[in-house]
Amino acid sequence: MIGRLLHLALHWQIAIALLLGAAIGITANITMGVRVTELEPSLLPKGYKNCKIDDRPGRVEIVLTRESGKTERWVVGGGPEDRAAGSLATLEELEQRAPTVYRLFQRHGRSFARRLGDLGDRLGQLFIRMLRMVSIPLIVVSLGSGVMGLGRASSLGRIFTRTFAYYLGTSMLAIVTGLIMVNVVRPGIGTSLRLASTEQELHAESMGEILFQQVESLIPPNPIAALSDARFLSIISFTILFSICAIVVGGGILERFRQLFSDAFEVMMTMTNGIIRLAPVGVFFLILYVTTTQGSSVFYSLALYMGTVLAALAFHGLVTLPLLLKFVAHRSPLEYARAMSPALLTAFSSSSSNGTLPVTISCVEQRAGISNRISSFVLPLGATINMDGTALYEAVAVLFIAQVYHGTTLPIAQQIVVAITALMVSIGAAGIPHAGLVMMVVILQAVGLPASLLGLLLSVDRVLDMCRTSVNVWSDSCGCAVVSELERAAEMGGPPIEIPSEPD
Ligand code: ASP
Repeated sequence: MIGRLLHLALHWQIAIALLLGAAIGITANITMGVRVTELEPSLLPKGYKNCKIDDRPGRVEIVLTRESGKTERWVVGGGPEDRAAGSLATLEELEQRAPTVYRLFQRHGRSFARRLGDLGDRLGQLFIRMLRMVSIPLIVVSLGSGVMGLGRASSLGRIFTRTFAYYLGTSMLAIVTGLIMVNVVRPGIGTSLRLASTEQELHAESMGEILFQQVESLIPPNPIAALSDARFLSIISFTILFSICAIVVGGGILERFRQLFSDAFEVMMTMTNGIIRLAPVGVFFLILYVTTTQGSSVFYSLALYMGTVLAALAFHGLVTLPLLLKFVAHRSPLEYARAMSPALLTAFSSSSSNGTLPVTISCVEQRAGISNRISSFVLPLGATINMDGTALYEAVAVLFIAQVYHGTTLPIAQQIVVAITALMVSIGAAGIPHAGLVMMVVILQAVGLPASLLGLLLSVDRVLDMCRTSVNVWSDSCGCAVVSELERAAEMGGPPIEIPSEPD
């Protein structure tokens, strides 16, 4: 049975693990989610004669009675009345404020569902640790090999400028679509999900200050320290700068570095893929944690979140990009989509732009009739750095997390930080499954949200990954048509560009 499951495609394994974890978690939550305990006086600290613990999904109440008859009451979670009466938001807060009471609860008061959930959390967090482990080396080698690969195409300056303008432009459009959608739908507001303190103050820094901090982090005074402190923006900017300088140096040095980075990229991809193989196990434990402790209400909140991502992706893929195709590339969007359908379906089922690349190239050249000189440059570059779907997804997901975490939307200045960081992250993300989720740590860090919240999104990431990867590949393909048309127009208005063998 297990052997048969292991032979299934990874996304099926993840889906089964998700359903299984959710089914066990919900059942435990419904049948074993409530426990009311009265502790023996011998278990209590000196000076106390009684302790009653009432643990139920979303609310814990602990009442301690002193020998003098005075009572102490602690409530964690609960409804609006509890919150108005000053309940704590999380058990971590209880641990900080009253460590002895917290220990009593942990040892003697937890319901079976909560014990199961805590176990799921510990094991699921191991998987999150693995993802975080690969994220930094992956960024460095994927970005480095991508940028240095350009050195060999330095004569393609004009195509490069246009391609880059297209990539940046469409990614920004995607991010704006995502931001508008998540601000209108507000999937994280009013949800019953309690991830962490909602009483935490938002950092009310000015936009100028926040943006300047980002500019500062683009210039790491000590790149090695940036690596060890996992300061992603600093790492990305230094890697890009290093790669550009390697291109400037050129010759054998560039070739050796390029080879080194692309070899290391291969190795990191293998490691990442190995970790992603564990996704079914990770998903099982993480969803178990969420469902045992939160109950089935989590699915409503996540359904709305998923709906928001999917609606924004649909708008970008079915409206924005086809408009560009129609009015800039002068192509029929429907026919172009039909020509690209094998690549889009491969992207959908594999969740990997890199894996789909050979299919994309063959569709663009053989079915859409775009010349090899454009596609051989635009598509490999696009698979690495142009990820509209990922950029959009990052923006929606981070704002969703912020809405749940803070209980309100992020101020506009921080949303701008999210937009800029999402753009950089989508450029730095590898075209492999779940890369977007791995890279989201960067944005969470930029706006001061804990990376541990990623666990919540992991349970539904596969479906969203399939859809955003299709949009990524669709955007690369549309980019080919746009750049090709712009080149054709330029050639008709001026001397044709000889690529790749210009004499100068
Ligand atoms: N799977 C996506 C891709 O390959 C990247 C992501 O996780 O967003 O394009």
